[in-house]
Parts: sequence; structure tokens; C-alpha cells
Amino acid sequence: MAKIKFLDEETINQIAAGEVIERPASVVKELVENSIDAGARKILVEVEDGGKSLIKVTDDGCGIDGQDLPLAFKQHATSKISGAHDLAAIRTLGFRGEALSSIASVSRRLAVFTKTREAKVGTYLLIEKAAALELKEAGCPAGTSIAVFDLFYHIPARRKHLRGSEAELAEIADLITELAIINFGISFELFTGRRTIFKSIRSQSWDDALFRVFGLQTSRALLPFRAEGKGWNLEGMAGDLLNTRSSPDRIFIYINGRPVAAKALMSGYREAYRNLIPVGRSPIGVVSLRAEPRLVDVNVHPAKREVRLLQEEEISGALTQAVSSAIRTEARPPEKKLKAMPPEMPLDIGSGEQSTLPLEPSGQIALVSPAASPKARILGQVLDLYIVAEGEQGLMLIDQHAAAERISFERLQERYRTMMISQELAVPVTIELTPSEQILLEAWKETLEEMGFEIAPFGGATYQVRAVPAIGSRLESPQALHDVLKDLFSLGKVGASATAKEEILKLLACRGSIKSGVELDSGGMKRLLKDLFACNNPLTCPHGRPVMVVIDRGQLETLFQRR
Ligand code: ADP
Ligand code: MG
Repeated sequence: MAKIKFLDEETINQIAAGEVIERPASVVKELVENSIDAGARKILVEVEDGGKSLIKVTDDGCGIDGQDLPLAFKQHATSKISGAHDLAAIRTLGFRGEALSSIASVSRRLAVFTKTREAKVGTYLLIEKAAALELKEAGCPAGTSIAVFDLFYHIPARRKHLRGSEAELAEIADLITELAIINFGISFELFTGRRTIFKSIRSQSWDDALFRVFGLQTSRALLPFRAEGKGWNLEGMAGDLLNTRSSPDRIFIYINGRPVAAKALMSGYREAYRNLIPVGRSPIGVVSLRAEPRLVDVNVHPAKREVRLLQEEEISGALTQAVSSAIRTEARPPEKKLKAMPPEMPLDIGSGEQSTLPLEPSGQIALVSPAASPKARILGQVLDLYIVAEGEQGLMLIDQHAAAERISFERLQERYRTMMISQELAVPVTIELTPSEQILLEAWKETLEEMGFEIAPFGGATYQVRAVPAIGSRLESPQALHDVLKDLFSLGKVGASATAKEEILKLLACRGSIKSGVELDSGGMKRLLKDLFACNNPLTCPHGRPVMVVIDRGQLETLFQRR
């Protein structure tokens, strides 16, 4: 019997939607891109429950003709290209003609009001389960308003994978800010029904949007750069050397007005900062490449997140150079504080006078029997990471970061138990948060307070941090605070559960601990070991990795073939 058959339209739409519509932010992206393509000057995005129950995008663009409207919701229906030849020179954000049909197929209900400028009257369309339920004339202003209700209503498997409303909202905010920077000729507003999360004003340059995304101080410190070649030109703003992040998520890259993940440009940009900012840090910045369509292929990714770029090497090389000269000529030299992170102990106790230490490991040491040695003689440090010591059982290698993490973790646990976790800062630190970070901060408010943070709004994007968890002086810079908040936010929604709190303590312990690659003097090593052996569980770090390895006489003899 024949088994192969054509799929029906609804199934085809759902399959396409699987690629294009992953979460509420994907819907917002497609709708807002349509509004931009429609020549809007003003775009309002309203969401409820992080977009899960409602996403509504309203624009004042060209509108959709009443006759075209049902067609716009069919697969592969688009007004933006008319054939394959157009794929070679795409000037709009959309062209695949599958966003609206996909959205309709994965939401419970979708309602559209639209009117072209020429039309006397507008049109209303209601779609349920991908089928048009109602189509009628309606009075409405020129432009288009599309409301999407209950995303993934019929697809519980997808719905289950959505994150908490705040996390989804934060992602939407990131998306809107990203689009607002490059589309500075359009006013954007993101509204949640209770408050405006982001608002930018239609303007001649991206300065206003940058100010709203980065905050006043940070955006003021941005340095402009330019470069050009045959068929392309680059323009951008380079972050100063003091403003670095733990990840490159604040480097905005655009190709022909489209936010993209462009690896070559990203590494070209970061290359300019190499050796100028600490290893593992990332600058912030904006890069906008305008290239002739023949150099860019946007038809490589369903959500159009990636593009193929010709002359990639030439362009990213020029980017590195342009950014380098911008930051070298104008930037101030980095402050000492940032350059060399001094080796710090989580907390200082004891002077570490004695040369041997009492050791009382309470469990299994890796590679060695549990009968552990009571004393250790420190021999030195290798690779700026491992402490080498002689114990009664043989040679001991201790991972200094893992050890410091264990020590910090147990101290934090103790302080948390005794409600002494908070430590007031001598001088409050101010930080600037992006709109999405502000959302997450609100959502995390209680947990942060419980963990010892005291953070209060200080006008606009600025927040003042008055107290932090007591993990030594490592949280006293805006950088470090950014990093810790980012790490916390990435843990996802934290409930009241004990394990969630434990996760936070682990993270703080890790942030507050000396890293690998730090040279320790003998006093530092002694203190570390002493503190380590005062721990309840000195053998593993909070993440479960071993803190020390012991190689006993027998193993040494085997290594040297003495037996
Ligand atoms: P694409 O953007 O790839 O063309 P979509 O499914 O996103 O595909 O949209 C289908 C068509 O609907 C578009 O080509 C456009 O003609 C019309 N359209 C969608 N949104 C708008 C809008 N906000 N304003 C005007 N026209 C729109
Ligand atoms: Mg589109």
C-alpha cells in the first residue's frame, strides 16, 4: 500500500513554525520586523505574561489591503519578493512569507486590524486554529495592529519549555532594544499593561537609543569609528576599556540593518581589545555594516539570525583596525584596579606563621586511602594554579581555585544560616542596567535581598548598590556586580526551594574566590590550606570537583619503576 502523501497546510505551517517561532520573543521579532518593512515611524509592542498570553504589535506603516489580508496568513505569501531572482538583493527584513502563517498556526487566536492610507475603511480579521473565522470592514487608523493570544495553546510540549514571564519579557526587551538601536528613525515602545519597559524616540542618529539601552555614563563613553571598502562601509560605537562584561552579549552587530550573529565581525571587534582588557572579559559596542546585496546572503537561516558574508576577512580586519585606533587614541588608560586582580583571600584569618599545618581530612582523598596525614609541608605553587605540598601520605596537589571556592561556600552557608550574609559597602556602587536587566532585577528582588544585596533605583537606568553578600572585596566594582547579577539571572527562575538557594551560594562562592592563574605567596598558600582543612568537606569544591589529589609513595614508586 502506498504510504507517502502530501501534508495538509496546517501541518506544514506547524512544521515551519517549529523553526521560526520558538518563544514569545520570536513572535515579537517577526511582527516588529514586518512593521519596520511596512515603513512604520512608530511601533508599540504590548505584552502580557511575558508574551505568553498576549503579544500585540501596532504600527503606523503602510497597512495591508483588505483583499490581501487573508492571503498574508498563507504559507509563502509575501509582498516583498516576487521570485528567486529577488533573493539576490533583499532589502527588507522579511522575504520568506512564513511568519504570519506560522504564528497563526501556533497560537490560539490572532486578531488583525489594518488599513492602508488610501483606503477609506480598514479591515478586521480573526483567525483561530489557523482558519479565518471572521473578516469584515472596521474603522481603524492607518497602519496595522496584530494581536496574538495564547502562544502554543495547542502545543503543550512547546508551552512547557517556556521560561517564567520575567525571563521571556527580558528576552523581548533585549530584542526590542537591539532593533531600536539600528532603526533609530522609528519610535519604539514596549509596554506590559502596567508599565513601559522601554521607549525610544524617533531621531536622526542612534544616540538616543544607545542612551536608553546602555545608560547615560556608559553611552557617553562610547567612541565612534568608521571604515569602508569596495561595496561596503562600517560604522559603529566602541565601548571604553573600563566597561567590560563577562560575555559578549552587549556587542550589537548589524548587517544591512538586520541584527545578526556574525562570528567573523564579532571576533574582529573583540580582537581590537585583546591585551587591552583582562582575559575572559568582553567589551560592549555597536557595529553596523552596510554592504551591497551581492556580498550578503540572508537566505541561510529560518529565523534570519545568521547571514553569509563575502569578503568576511577583509571586512573584519578593517573593523579591528578602526576600533583599535578609536580606543587607542581616545580611551583613558585602564585603572590599576582592573588590570591586575590582586590575589585575595575570601577572608583573612590567622597569620599563617607555622610552616606545617594540622590536617584532618574527613573523607576519601582522590587516589589515596582514607587514612589521611595530619600534617602538610607546603613546597610551592605550580602553573599559578596548583599548590604542591608534602603530607604524610605523599605528594599533595591542591587546586587553589577549587579550595577557595569550598572555603567561601562553607562560610557563606554559615553566614546565611546566621543571617549575617550581608555586608554594607563603604562606598555605594552605582551600576547601569539595560531594560532587560531591570526586569530581571525586579523579579529577583526578594531573593537578592535574602542573599545580602541591597539595590535601589537611582533614577533612569542607574541603580545604587549599598550592600552585597559578604564574600570579600570582590563585589565592589560595577563590573563584578554586573557579572554576578548576570550569572544569577541565568540560573532561571528561583523559587523558595533550598536547592535554589544552595545554587546561588555556590555561584557567589565561585565569584568570590581566587581564580586560577594567580600567583600566591607562601603566606597566602598557608592560609588557604588552613582554611581548607577547617571546612566540613575539604575534598571537593561545591560543584563536586576534587580539591586535592594525593600521590602516595607506592604510586610514586610505580611511576619511577622502582617496583
Ligand atoms: P514576509 O515578511 O516574509 O513577507 P510575513 O508572513 O511576515 O512574511 O508577512 C506576509 C505579508 O504580510 C508581508 O509580505 C506583508 O505584505 C504583509 N504584512 C505583514 N505585516 C505587515 C504590517 N505590519 N504592515 C503591512 N504589511 C504587513
Ligand atoms: Mg515578515
